[in-house]
Amino acid sequence: MTTVLAVYNSSGCIGRCDANCHDARTAKCTCICGGKNHGAGLERAIENNRELVGLTKEDLQRFAAAHGLDADELFTVDRTKCSQRQARLGAKHALAHRKAGQTEMEF
Ligand SMILES: [Zn+2]
Repeated sequence: MTTVLAVYNSSGCIGRCDANCHDARTAKCTCICGGKNHGAGLERAIENNRELVGLTKEDLQRFAAAHGLDADELFTVDRTKCSQRQARLGAKHALAHRKAGQTEMEF
């Protein structure tokens, strides 16, 4: 299953946009893509990543509000650019050393 986006907090991954979303045939989900990848297929979901779908501060704030979380304690990773391990370590580092307004991991 290909994960295109993953949301982390200091404990680890708390949300993913994966085939459950981009291959979905059911009602809208509440994942980090905000429904833009929902049922869109993997190729479109990857293209959406390049257009920063799910990677903006607004996406993170919407996700946090929908799940009763604090956006400042969350970080979104473009999982098409890195492995699960890199994402986990990168998010942990980013949360500890985050620059103001930064929502996407730097590579
Ligand atoms: Zn999604």
